[in-house]
Amino acid sequence: MAIYEYRCPDDPPFEAAHPIGEAPDTSPCPACGRSSRRIISAPHLSIANTAAFRLIDSTRRSASEPDVVDTRIPGSPRRVPPHSSNPLHRKLPRP
Ligand SMILES: [Zn+2]
Repeated sequence: MAIYEYRCPDDPPFEAAHPIGEAPDTSPCPACGRSSRRIISAPHLSIANTAAFRLIDSTRRSASEPDVVDTRIPGSPRRVPPHSSNPLHRKLPRP
């Protein structure tokens, strides 16, 4: 069995396992069911399922799906909101 990659026109690419040389040119998309064409992608033969591969995969994923950070970096200065003593600035709209 080998893993082949297919691309749906509306959804992200997906993978399907088929015997080598018997992969169909199209496969139904698991998300919407539309017929999706097989695409040629780089084989992951030697580093598949290794720590290096997981690192590369998570690095690539973080470029488009970064984790949400809700705390400041340890050691970084605390952000102080700007303050003005001018009384005219009190009438300005607040963010
Ligand atoms: Zn789809």
